[in-house]
Amino acid sequence: MSTKKEDSSWVLFTWLWTGYLKKYVWYLAAAMGFMMFEGAMTASFSVMMKPLFDDVFLGSNADALVWVGLAVLGIFVARGLASLAHKIILTSASQRSMADIRNDMVDHLMRLDADFHSDRGPGNLIQRVEGDVGAIAKVWRTLVTGAGRDAVTFVALLGVAFWSDWRWTLIALVGVPLMIGPASYLQKFVRTNARKNREISASQSTRLNEIFHGIMPVKLNQLERYQSKQYQKLQKIRIRTEVRSAAGSASLPTLIDVMSGLGFFGILYFAGGEILEGKKTVGEFMTFFTAIGMMFEPLRRLGAVSGAWQIAAAGIERVKDLLETPSHLIDPPKPADAPDGLPSVSLDDVRLNYEETEVLRGLNFVAEAGKTTALVGPSGAGKSTVFHLLTRLVDPSSGRIEIGGVSPSDLSLHDLRSMISVVSQEAMLFDESLRENIVLDQDVSDERLQAALEAAHITSFLPKLANGIETRVGPRGSNLSGGQRQRVAIARALLRDTPILLLDEATSALDVQSEAVVQSALDKLAEGRTTLVIAHRLSTVRNADKIVVMDAGRAVQEGSHDALLAKGGVYADLCRLQFGGSTT
Ligand code: ADP
Repeated sequence: MSTKKEDSSWVLFTWLWTGYLKKYVWYLAAAMGFMMFEGAMTASFSVMMKPLFDDVFLGSNADALVWVGLAVLGIFVARGLASLAHKIILTSASQRSMADIRNDMVDHLMRLDADFHSDRGPGNLIQRVEGDVGAIAKVWRTLVTGAGRDAVTFVALLGVAFWSDWRWTLIALVGVPLMIGPASYLQKFVRTNARKNREISASQSTRLNEIFHGIMPVKLNQLERYQSKQYQKLQKIRIRTEVRSAAGSASLPTLIDVMSGLGFFGILYFAGGEILEGKKTVGEFMTFFTAIGMMFEPLRRLGAVSGAWQIAAAGIERVKDLLETPSHLIDPPKPADAPDGLPSVSLDDVRLNYEETEVLRGLNFVAEAGKTTALVGPSGAGKSTVFHLLTRLVDPSSGRIEIGGVSPSDLSLHDLRSMISVVSQEAMLFDESLRENIVLDQDVSDERLQAALEAAHITSFLPKLANGIETRVGPRGSNLSGGQRQRVAIARALLRDTPILLLDEATSALDVQSEAVVQSALDKLAEGRTTLVIAHRLSTVRNADKIVVMDAGRAVQEGSHDALLAKGGVYADLCRLQFGGSTT
């Protein structure tokens, strides 16, 4: 997916360290301390063997039996507690740092441009926040056990080996240069497969998200088998990449075994000769041989650690990539003051291209302050795009947009969006109580809430709900009807009380009866605001102060319903199509 150059392990590690791990360095130190203490306790158990045998058994000292016994008990308890402590500390540090990354990702993702989100489905992004970050969890354990214990042991034993005979040590390490090539190949292999694995996991999440969001159409179109097959295809690839990255990762210690074998062979052959010639004693050989033998074990574990790191690195690079993706629709360096009072909205020769496609081709119109302006026209004419421009989900390619005399791009996003409420076809509800869904993060007095509930015609259906306004509305508001959800959106807009109101097909998904209720609530909502309405059903725009007829990215006609009908043309044709003969 990502075509950019691969980040080296060092770059990824320093990024993770400075951003997320460094602040928990004391956790790291404490965990290492407890780990060393645990090791020391294990070693001191063997130390207890001497007094046990020499004093207790051979010296027949019964008093010593008690204190040796107590000491052994103490050692075991201390070891157990140390082990518990480092596990808790490590888990707490890794969970805290992962929570930091996740919080940053969610914050950043919500601020990324709309086109970023239209390229990537929710499933993909959920997997990135959950799965990719989860892959990083191993880094903590890797760090503590790898750097803390094995690297230190390895360096210490290597020192002993050099000190006892540097020539023999060099011979023991004869296999190292031979290992560099295959090891770096294996590291790449693991990273590539781990990366593919992350990508496949994201595709699987996208598919699951689509299946479960669209479960009704899946059932009705009998797509269960088809969807299963598609999912299984991804599952097969996932198994392959998972096994490959595990195999690559496990090959690293194997490689170290081969290198160790070569080293032992070299020592036996070379050092053995020197002993036979009487140049060295068997004791000297055994000291050296033990040090080298012990040295290969931590090295082998470090090999496994490097594989685990590559798997984590595949997650880290995707997280880093995402956090470094810039937003383009951001606050200007010096935002203008938000316009006072009721603003008018004007578009002057506005053009917008999505890559090759010209969506708006020199659009001009004015929506006067405090009036209702309707945008009508065939599907694809660019009506919703106008709303996206006004709310700055996208910037125009050229031309000028003004809201109360100020361009949206000169305002801070906060000021701009605080001026506008949008009610669209599908109200976005969260799985919380009805009250929480209406109030959201505002501070609202009971009187205002009550007034909004009445104006939005919510009071009429409240008695039908089990817990009134405290009833949970279910995921995406599934426990409410379409008309009820729209009324929630209207109540929200009433409470936000913004000077501009955008209605995008707000009643088009409703049956005639709900439409009438919602329409009357919308009319109340529109009072005293600059309102722009998009509607397919021309019955809902008849009373607009002005109707702008759009076609292929331009305004082709404008005027009142009656004037446009009288004039004839696109609008009159649309009316004839919808109402048949009767147009008044
Ligand atoms: P309307 O609301 O009038 O039906 P829209 O404003 O939704 O029309 O869309 C106008 C045109 O812009 C359509 O042809 C649509 O395919 C295209 N379009 C909208 N959004 C995008 C996008 N993010 N990328 C590419 N094309 C888009």
